[in-house]
Amino acid sequence: MTNFLKEPTPFKEEEKKELKLLIKKKALEEKDFPSPFIYKLSLIIIFSLTASIFIQYGVFKSLFFIVIGYFNHQFTFMIYHSRIHASFKEKPSYNLHCREYIAWVHHYVEPKYLVCSEHYRAYLHWKFTLFFPLPTTAFLYLIGFEQYALGVVGSWLFWQTTLAPIHNWYHVKPRYRKRYFSYFEYIWLFLFEKVGLISTKKHYKHHNHGINNLEDAKDFQDAWMPPLIVSLYNNFFRWFQVLYKDGQTNMRTFLKKVILLNYLIGHFLFAYSANIIFKFIN
Ligand SMILES: [Zn+2]
Ligand SMILES: [Zn+2]
Repeated sequence: MTNFLKEPTPFKEEEKKELKLLIKKKALEEKDFPSPFIYKLSLIIIFSLTASIFIQYGVFKSLFFIVIGYFNHQFTFMIYHSRIHASFKEKPSYNLHCREYIAWVHHYVEPKYLVCSEHYRAYLHWKFTLFFPLPTTAFLYLIGFEQYALGVVGSWLFWQTTLAPIHNWYHVKPRYRKRYFSYFEYIWLFLFEKVGLISTKKHYKHHNHGINNLEDAKDFQDAWMPPLIVSLYNNFFRWFQVLYKDGQTNMRTFLKKVILLNYLIGHFLFAYSANIIFKFIN
């Protein structure tokens, strides 16, 4: 394989072709390309679920779920995203999984290569749609908060769906966005950018580091998060570099535990606060 690292820009035509083929090959190997039908089906399921939150709990309680679900989802995203950056440090690029590899190319070779197809996004929806609701509902049942499962799971999936295309949004030039995104996606992403929930400008700051200073990666959120949380997480990521040892996977192993802890504590707190607030207002 061509050593892309030595010659990141300008990109030669053959290199571009080779890179595209490699991404496609890696994606196919890992079966990351389900049909667009699955993507549309998962959108229908998730938006119906969101509608049923409003039917089940009423407007006020549903808004609570949607707002807290946003922070729950985005914080989880930050941890997963930082884990991909830990992989960049701990794994040689040829050993990265498809998703990590595309992210690596996106960060350090050519940013436009994360503007990948609808099929790839479909993969994310499809996986989360299948695998997120059941364990989360089971967990909430175990801790006695099953009555909030629809709100917790539905709001998470709602944000997963509406925020999933934002990274593509950041890297598609504004004049091409109307053509690139579906009508509905364009409207909601345009509104998100207008109200400051997402910011193309801020996303470019995340790209302000290179292959030689991987530890300087920061701002792992894709959408707005309180500045205090962003800065605390940036500090955590810097501190956490002490775990790095050549040829080992300490950083990723540690983040795996953080992911599990965040899942358990985050969902417990979410359901617990719903329980307190809803009792208070009833
Ligand atoms: Zn990144
Ligand atoms: Zn990017």
